[in-house]
Amino acid sequence: AHLDRIDAVDKKVHAFLHLDREGALAAARAVDSARARGERLGPLAGVPLALKDIFTTRDMPTTVGSKILEGWVPPYDATVTRRLKEADVVILGKTNMDEFAMGSSTENSAYGPTGNPWDLTRVPGGSGGGSSASLAAYEAPLAIGTDTGGSVRQPAAVTGTVGVKPTYGAVSRYGMVAFSSSLDQAGPCARTVLDTALLHSVLAGHDEMDSTSIDQPVPDVVGAARHGDVRGLRVGVVREFRGEGYQAGVMQRFDESVELLRELGAEVVEVSCPSFTKALAAYYLIAPSECSSNLARFDALRYGMRIGDDGTRSAEEVTSLTREAGFGDEVKRRVMLGTYALSSGYYDAYYGSAQKVRTLITRDFQRAFEAVDVLVSPTTPTTAFPIGERADDPMAMYLADLCTIPSNLAGNAAMSLPCGLAPEDGLPVGLQIIAPAMADDRLYRVGAAVE
Ligand code: GLN
Repeated sequence: AHLDRIDAVDKKVHAFLHLDREGALAAARAVDSARARGERLGPLAGVPLALKDIFTTRDMPTTVGSKILEGWVPPYDATVTRRLKEADVVILGKTNMDEFAMGSSTENSAYGPTGNPWDLTRVPGGSGGGSSASLAAYEAPLAIGTDTGGSVRQPAAVTGTVGVKPTYGAVSRYGMVAFSSSLDQAGPCARTVLDTALLHSVLAGHDEMDSTSIDQPVPDVVGAARHGDVRGLRVGVVREFRGEGYQAGVMQRFDESVELLRELGAEVVEVSCPSFTKALAAYYLIAPSECSSNLARFDALRYGMRIGDDGTRSAEEVTSLTREAGFGDEVKRRVMLGTYALSSGYYDAYYGSAQKVRTLITRDFQRAFEAVDVLVSPTTPTTAFPIGERADDPMAMYLADLCTIPSNLAGNAAMSLPCGLAPEDGLPVGLQIIAPAMADDRLYRVGAAVE
C-alpha cells in the first residue's frame, strides 16, 4: 500500500531519492513468512520506513544529497540501518535532503527540491525535508532524520509531523555521514508521539563503533508516550524565543499550547536564557569549522566522483576539479567559512569565541533546568516558506533554526510536534519541547499530553 501511495504522489512530492521496491517487498514477505512459521519477530516487524540518505546502506546507494557521491553504494550498514533491520522494519528507500545536511529547505539537494505536501509550492523544511514530507504525504508511517542544528525538528514543524532529536550520543553516529560531529544526532520521525517513541526505542542504545555513544540505559520513552501526564510538571517558557521575526499565527498556536499545558495541571513559568540570542552566530562558526574538516575525506580518491584523472594531472588537481564539480554552493560556502575560522591567527577570535558561547548556552540550560523540568518554545519562527524565497539569502535561511540550535550546542533532547495550523496561511505550526540530557522520556510525556 505504501509503495502504491509513493507511485501515486512522489512524482509531485519528490521525497525519495532512491526507492528499493524489490528489497522492501522481499523484507515484507520475509516478515510474513516468519510470522506464519511462528518465529519471534523484531518490535517493528513489517512497518515501512523512509531512511534519510545520510545513512550508509549496503544494498542501496548513499548520496547525502550530493553529486560527489552519486552512485556510491557503501560496503557496510550504519548502526541505525542495522538496528532497523534487526527490528524487522521494512526500509522503503532513501529520502531527499540538503546536500550534506546543510540547509533548512531541502533546496540545497543536488537532486532537486522536495515539495511540502501541505502546499507543493512551499519547502518541507530541511535538511531532512524528504523524510518529513514522506510522512506528511502518507508515503511512510516512520522515517529517520538527523539533527545538527534542527534538521529533524524544523522539517517536522513545517510538515505537521513529529520529530525528535535525542540526547547527543543516544543514537549511534556510526555510518551516518558526518557534517558537524559534535552536534550531529540521528532521530526518529513519525506522525504521532507514540510511533516516534517506538522508533526511538529501537534506535537508541550504546554502540562501541561510536566513541561518543552513551553507555547508559535508554529512558522509557514508550512508557512515557503511553502515559502523557503533565500534572505537577514544571514547564519553562523561553522568553528569548519571541518577538521580531516570529509569525503572529505561530505565536498564537504556541501560546494556546502553553495554556493547554496549564489547564492539564502543569506549572508554567517564564524562563530567561540570555545567551540563546548568540546561539546562531556560534553555530555558524562551529558547524562550518567541523564540516571543513569532515569533508576533507571527499578527495576523489576514496569514493564517488572523480574528474580529470586522465594521467596528465596531479592528485591535487584531480581532487580540486572533483570538488569544484561535485560540491554545491552551500557546501563550498561552509568549507570556506570553516577553513577561514580555523586558520592560524583567527582560531581564538572565531572558533575559540564560539566555543565560549557554547559553554554559556549550556550554563543557561543548566540554570533553567534547576527551576523547571522541560522548556517549551515554537520550533521555528514561521510556517513553511515558498520554494525559492530564501534560496539566495543564506542569512534568512539560517534564521529558520533560531529556536532549535541551542539544544544541539548543549547536547540535550528536544522534540517538535504539531500544535495546530496558523490562521493566516492554514499551514502547520510546531511546538518544541526541550528536556535535559538523558531525560528524553519527558519529551514524550509532555508530547503525549498535548498531542
Ligand atoms: N539548517 C541547519 C544548517 O543548515 C541545520 C542543519 C542540520 O540540522 N543538519 O546547518
